[in-house]
Amino acid sequence: MKTRRVALAKRPDGEPREDDFALVEDDLPDPGPGEVLVRATLLSVDPYQRGRMSETRSYARSLELGDTITSQTLGEVVESNNPRLAPGDVVVGQLGWTEYAVVPGHQVRRVPDGIPPAAALHVLGTTGLTAYFGLLDVGKPKPGDTVVVSGAAGAVGQLVGQIAKLMGCRTVGIAGRPGKVRDLTEAYGYDAGIDYKREDVKATLKEACPDGVDVYFDNVGGEITDLVLARLALHARVVVCGQISQYNNREPQLGPRNLGLLIVHRARMEGFLVVDYAHRYDEALQRLGRWVLEGKLHYTEHVTEGIENAPRAFIGMLRGENRGKTLVRLPE
Ligand code: NDP
Repeated sequence: MKTRRVALAKRPDGEPREDDFALVEDDLPDPGPGEVLVRATLLSVDPYQRGRMSETRSYARSLELGDTITSQTLGEVVESNNPRLAPGDVVVGQLGWTEYAVVPGHQVRRVPDGIPPAAALHVLGTTGLTAYFGLLDVGKPKPGDTVVVSGAAGAVGQLVGQIAKLMGCRTVGIAGRPGKVRDLTEAYGYDAGIDYKREDVKATLKEACPDGVDVYFDNVGGEITDLVLARLALHARVVVCGQISQYNNREPQLGPRNLGLLIVHRARMEGFLVVDYAHRYDEALQRLGRWVLEGKLHYTEHVTEGIENAPRAFIGMLRGENRGKTLVRLPE
């Protein structure tokens, strides 16, 4: 049996290019004892994959040239030598950008019945968990707080804004295209949206947050973050979730430049990794699942067809072309 997978062909120099990736065909072994053969149906496309393509030291090891691009993958069990799993089960696991995979059964988990399968890669997957723990545990929002989110129309950001509203907060989202900025207020319930590419962010932030920013959920870093830090309220919390504006830099930018503002506002700035909350995933998934069923949490997906187009979807996502969670669908 053969499978096609997307491998790292070259380390990107700055912005990734399609020829940094290669579509490779491999033979697959038969599943051994305890193993399952999974046919992938949806691949996740995420900013962290950019970090894995570089040799920079980080919280996870870099990919070697020729390795499959790491990703969460949704799929269907085709053959099983594992008593926990049967053919036809829908599963999710860290299988990478591949059409088929043979893995030990414990490396995938069954998607419970009644959940739209794609949600397991989004609102009821790592994306939802990131929004949930980052906002609630690190940001600690209180009713009446003003919560500002950068990357607010993306996969994580759209959920952060809605969860903050469920907590009784005022929400202001920052995004980079007119359609996305419209989505902020029309689809994700933000009280105000700011287009950082076309508006004067300093002036619009001042207008949208007259009493300052109590919680800043930062997905992007860079100049946007400098401007939000300048508007922090007393005892503000800054949640450092991601710094996507920096991921393609050849050299690290100097900064942050205005940390003195944390002293002025007695603010706290804290980075977090969603995997550190693995022991509490069940609690969060139950709550997120309830909000979805009650129609209180909406989520948008940006789907590209075909494994050969995964690199293009990834490059597009880094450029901001995605409107929601970026996924690649594989044909039946
Ligand atoms: P998104 O769906 O938000 O896609 C990325 C978005 O980033 C783009 O659509 C674009 O939106 C924005 N962007 C790209 N370049 C820039 C730039 N130079 N300045 C400002 N915005 C930019 O991705 P995710 O929701 O999957 O991820 C959001 C963040 O969360 C990332 O930084 C990611 O690394 C982080 N993350 C952190 C985790 C953790 O455990 N700490 C776990 C998962 C994700 P626009 O058009 O608005 O510019």
